[in-house]
Amino acid sequence: MHQKPDPDAMGSALGLCHFLQQLGHTVTVVSPTNWADFLDWMPASDKVLDYENYKQKEKADTVLTNAEWLFCLDFNTLSRTRNMAPTIKNLSCTKILIDHHEQPEVESFDYGVSDVTKSSTCEMVYDFIVESGHADKINNDIAECLYAGVMGDTGSFRYPSASASLHRMVATLMEKGLRHTPVHDNIYDNYLENRLRFIGHVLQNRMEILYEYNAALIAVSKNDLIKYDIKTGDTEGLVNFPLSIQGIKLAAIVMDRDEERKWSFRSKGDFDVNTFARENFNGGGHFSASGGRTYDSLEKTIQKFKLALKENASQLQ
Ligand code: 5GP
Ligand code: MN
Repeated sequence: MHQKPDPDAMGSALGLCHFLQQLGHTVTVVSPTNWADFLDWMPASDKVLDYENYKQKEKADTVLTNAEWLFCLDFNTLSRTRNMAPTIKNLSCTKILIDHHEQPEVESFDYGVSDVTKSSTCEMVYDFIVESGHADKINNDIAECLYAGVMGDTGSFRYPSASASLHRMVATLMEKGLRHTPVHDNIYDNYLENRLRFIGHVLQNRMEILYEYNAALIAVSKNDLIKYDIKTGDTEGLVNFPLSIQGIKLAAIVMDRDEERKWSFRSKGDFDVNTFARENFNGGGHFSASGGRTYDSLEKTIQKFKLALKENASQLQ
């Protein structure tokens, strides 16, 4: 899965794990980095290895070296696995990609299903299980993991990617006994007070609306992250707030992390943030949701963003 996994990355990996184990395989799930606490309820998340935890890295390296197959889930380029990228590149096992991001790095994988029309990698893992003739293997653990991913990546079923067949998938999971409300509660109503205070602060003091470009920018300083004790996952979803303002077509957030300036982009309508992130911020993703990073200072990267807005003015206006 990709670094700093979201519900789709963690859910697809664990959902696939629970399925393959039933077929008698020995499966280990490895995350390139740590993840948000709100994913810790997922069945078997306590067995996931964190590649940035030096104690677990050694075990992960052994597992990777001895693996026959490697499933790569919810990312399109090896760079999305951060420190795991060189390790994965050098493995001689069969590498299989299951992903829904734009422009996959096809040369890095032996086989793959890449489908940008799919809502989520979790939906693709569901299709993989059903189309391999094993729908009967879908148990509650698999259902909860896969539901979390489709819920996350469709904005709780509001984006155009929430197709009729996705709703049919959810109906099938519910018929098999899935309780969906606890999944929503575990992910969206599972924060500490400081996060809500942080959101209030950021919306009040760190959001700039650039009406000229129908765009909004939220810039979060290192001090903000420290003052509000912000942890992995606490900034999830923040980028969506400005899109609720009439007329805003592009929302961006940049976080001044120690190691990088991390960008997230979201758009409404016909503005392509995959290309925008690719061309300006070493990133990519989907048409309406993407991310990227720079190693410039916060001030410099904000200047770059504003320049990029100018260059894209005709598409934004
Ligand atoms: P987020 O803003 O939530 O980090 O990411 C939005 C979407 O873009 C997710 O699907 C994520 O996987 C993808 N994404 C985020 N950062 C990058 C990046 O640097 N490169 C690529 N290719 N995709 C990214
Ligand atoms: Mn995804």
